[in-house]
Amino acid sequence: MKKKLVILGAGESGVGAALLGQVKGWEVFVSDKGSIAANYKAELDNANIAWEENTHTLDKIFAADEIVKSPGIPEHITLIKELGVRGIPVISEIEFAGKYNTSKTICITGSNGKTTTTMLVYHLLKDAGVDVEMCGNIGVSLARLVAEERQPEWFVIELSSFQLDGMYTFKADIALLLNITPDHLDRYDHKMTNYIKSKFRIALNQGVNDYFIYCADDPNIKRELPKHIFSSNLIPFSQKEIYKKGAYSTSDEMIVKLNNDSMSVYLQELALQGRHNLYNSMAAGIVARVLNIKKKIIRESLASFKGAEHRLEKVVSVRGIDFINDSKATNVNSTWYALECMTKPVIWIAGGTDKGNDYTELHQIAKSKVKALICLGVDNSKLIKSFTNVVPVIKEANSMEEAIKKAYKLGKKDDVVLLSPACASFDLFNNYMDRGEQFKKYAAEL
Ligand code: ADP
Repeated sequence: MKKKLVILGAGESGVGAALLGQVKGWEVFVSDKGSIAANYKAELDNANIAWEENTHTLDKIFAADEIVKSPGIPEHITLIKELGVRGIPVISEIEFAGKYNTSKTICITGSNGKTTTTMLVYHLLKDAGVDVEMCGNIGVSLARLVAEERQPEWFVIELSSFQLDGMYTFKADIALLLNITPDHLDRYDHKMTNYIKSKFRIALNQGVNDYFIYCADDPNIKRELPKHIFSSNLIPFSQKEIYKKGAYSTSDEMIVKLNNDSMSVYLQELALQGRHNLYNSMAAGIVARVLNIKKKIIRESLASFKGAEHRLEKVVSVRGIDFINDSKATNVNSTWYALECMTKPVIWIAGGTDKGNDYTELHQIAKSKVKALICLGVDNSKLIKSFTNVVPVIKEANSMEEAIKKAYKLGKKDDVVLLSPACASFDLFNNYMDRGEQFKKYAAEL
């Protein structure tokens, strides 16, 4: 008899897992409490996979031998607890795909910079002619690629903490931990330690031939590191200290040292500018050296990379005022780095759905860089209260069009209008991409 696989949630990872389960001979059933997108329904139908939407039929779910839970479903809901009581294993799509995957993996996590670094590593490897594909949180699911028998030499996989939570036997050949700052704490009992533990799962099951690359400047990583026993090769990167093995920076260079060999790149040649992005370039540089990619190619590739959309993306310059779209900055830390790398007076557009933000962390940097704040959200009261007496001018806007017009009016030659919201977008926009697109549209119309 076929073993029963139930997939909870029919987004990209759920559908990918369903397709893979079907190919591998499981009896698959997909259940989504919300509605399923038309393209995914069509795919499931084409593959003869049973599905339901807007409900969970418990009898069918409790009959499962194994459950794949989509990352968006919290662990603490009754259904997931009930599965635990019944002893039915609940895993993530990555764990499921990992059972069948035969490619080597570079797995990238962190609170910020995952997508940027995943794209950068992919770009480096591609430029070097490595057989590589990119997947995970960034777009296509790993399970889908494995189902399609696309097994390159290397996968570069972006992983969120929710995907790591359901990972038990999966192993990354190269694991990369960029940083850990507060985010999604509502899913971790509001305990930072739980979230930190989740991020460290990236190094789970690694052995002597594997690599764990991490940011040695991050206080949370530094504190957690000694609590774990690693048999893998640990490689740090830092902008504060010099390591015999790893990456570090001087005032004008980034240096990667590995196996008594060293390479350097001038900071001004890096395509990605700003301190946060230097961390991303260092991490990607280490991965490239671990794979023995030629130094010349690494240098050229770090210089030619086109950054990801909605991340400190230069849009237009009007009357000498630059417009920068950093809509993907949905937490305080990423906004801090955006403000930090601004070299001109900033008219800052921020706000949206607050995730329990502590804005005091931005006070000092805002004081030195921001000449005006435009609060773009349904409820701006917390933002206004926090930045009164910190920035000289505060205005409100209810739409992106209004925000851009107000920003433009306040701006002078050699100012910059920066959208870096530190908040989620769902109060006024469909998602951060919609918010960024609107910013670009109205800025271009000026
Ligand atoms: P993620 O995929 O982890 O959300 P992104 O690459 O999409 O990360 O970037 C999200 C936001 O964080 C952007 O505003 C970007 O400029 C900023 N960012 C990128 N790398 C880092 C980093 N290493 N540390 C802090 N912020 C970063």
